[in-house]
Amino acid sequence: MQWFSAWFGGFAAFLYPSFGGHHRPASMDLRATPSGTRILIMALLELKNLHVALEDGTEIVKGVDLAVNTNETHAVMGPNGSGKSTLAYALMGHPAYEITEGELLLDGEDLTQMEADERAQRGLFLAFQYPHAVPGVTVTSFMRSAINSVRKAKAGGDDPIPIPEFRKELMAAMEQLKVPREMASRYLNEGFSGGEKKRVEILQMAMLKPRIAVLDETDSGLDIDALKIVAGGVKDLVGPNMGAIVITHYQRILNYIDPDFVHVFVGGRIVEEGGPELAHKLEAEGYEAFTPEVVK
Ligand code: ADP
Ligand code: MG
Repeated sequence: MQWFSAWFGGFAAFLYPSFGGHHRPASMDLRATPSGTRILIMALLELKNLHVALEDGTEIVKGVDLAVNTNETHAVMGPNGSGKSTLAYALMGHPAYEITEGELLLDGEDLTQMEADERAQRGLFLAFQYPHAVPGVTVTSFMRSAINSVRKAKAGGDDPIPIPEFRKELMAAMEQLKVPREMASRYLNEGFSGGEKKRVEILQMAMLKPRIAVLDETDSGLDIDALKIVAGGVKDLVGPNMGAIVITHYQRILNYIDPDFVHVFVGGRIVEEGGPELAHKLEAEGYEAFTPEVVK
């Protein structure tokens, strides 16, 4: 909860995708342009040999390489207990999950030593598997303070969004995501059903406009209608300004999202990678075919 509060507080400085919108030259991947010149391309988010351990030192994530750009949806699929949530929390800087080895880069900048709020400011967003309730903070006030902090950071000083403009934007997003109007005045996640929590998380994402969104098991506990709305929201938001990592145990949500890349995650490692066809193979064959013993 304390961590969540810090992270929530981090929205006080949440920044637009365009923050630091200087285009860094960069990185790892050499691609040829039509003219034949080779340019260096760096992925927006890069995990290099990332290892994550619990507080007692138990290593859960055992060397993950992953590169995610805007306009890309990556599915990370794995069985329960494989370390998917551990990976998600480590990306966001949860203090209980320590990155013990490897690199975590956003725009070439190392995030490993940064607090959760600093990572959020740089455009990382995590939709929790189990969202926390925030008593006393309404959905509306949460959204408004988040947006105002974005504006403050952009303007270099207080620049609160005019209330009518804010209401219009919020109402439009709520309408699109089919979040009932009365939810705007309820306390964030308090007494929300599973489906309501997930919709409101997608609403947060729509309003905050992160650069990389990590959705941890957003599909669990959702009926088909809610699932379609959430998936539609993700699909709408992934584009020139945002990339997404969709973490899931089930293939179900991927019927509505169409990932560009699928990474099979077993035993703290990515054991196979491919396109959307891999998700269908998983659905048909299960994870047994990918258990570490079989893989190596
Ligand atoms: P997944 O999300 O793939 O189901 P998790 O990352 O939640 O997997 O869990 C991976 C392993 O790490 C499990 O054995 C789980 O019990 C353990 N684990 C994760 N977080 C904690 C924690 N905070 N304290 C103790 N064990 C944890
Ligand atoms: Mg999990």
